[in-house]
Parts: sequence; structure tokens; C-alpha cells
Amino acid sequence: MAIDLDILTVRIAPQDDPETNFFWASGEDGKLRFKHCQDCGYYSHPPTPRCPKCLSANMQPDPVSGKATVLTYTVNIQQWVPGQAPYIIAIVTMEEQDDLRLTTLLAGVELDDPNIIGMKVEVRFLARDDVWYPTFVPEGSPA
Ligand SMILES: [Zn+2]
Repeated sequence: MAIDLDILTVRIAPQDDPETNFFWASGEDGKLRFKHCQDCGYYSHPPTPRCPKCLSANMQPDPVSGKATVLTYTVNIQQWVPGQAPYIIAIVTMEEQDDLRLTTLLAGVELDDPNIIGMKVEVRFLARDDVWYPTFVPEGSPA
């Protein structure tokens, strides 16, 4: 059975921003993309107009594997919106680069699972109003 990615009762759409719009639309074809320096190969997130390593302006969004490892997480139990169930907010490290990290929702994991840190995870996208929200699930979860 597919994992329910629709964790949040309310989602605030990202701002229209030419620097980040690619990120929110990337999941339309099922691929996660990050700004990638075409000169030195460094991925930059949040997106930057110049490479933080070599200062090149030759940056473009490139797809990554979507595979990551949970670096750390927290369980949000505060109901900022009435009726919101507790959920996991994680920081994941992408497989492509040790400091390419994303703060994201983690779905398909029990809140009290003792093995969340270090868990291998992969991206899935929740599409809402032309935004593809990246969400991570345990690697190998049903599509
Ligand atoms: Zn560079």
C-alpha cells in the first residue's frame, strides 16, 4: 500500500521566485533537482546564483538520485492548525554530496521508531496546485 504523503493539514505555497521555482516544479517528472555548478560540480542548496565553492555563475538545476540518509529529525506534536496529527521533520543528506542537505517531511515511519537517524530514505512528491513538495520515505517503500 502506498504511503500517504499528505501529512500536513495546511500547506503554504512557496513564493514565486525565479531562483527557486525550478525546485518546486522539479518533481513533475519525478526527479529532485538542485543547483549544480557546471565548473566544479558542487551542488548548492538553498539555491544560489553563484557557486559557493568556486564562485562560478555557471549554475543550473540538475537531477539527483533522490536517495538520502536521515541526519537528524524532530517530531512536531504542536497543533499549529487544529486537528493536525504529529509528524516528522527531518534533515536528510543527499547521496551525491555530504553537505547537500534538505529539511523535509518524513512519511511512512512510526514516530517512535528508534532507527530513524541513519535511515536510508528516498524522495516522493506530493503534487498540489502546480507545486511538487518533496517528501522522503524509507528506501524501497511501495510507490
Ligand atoms: Zn563551482
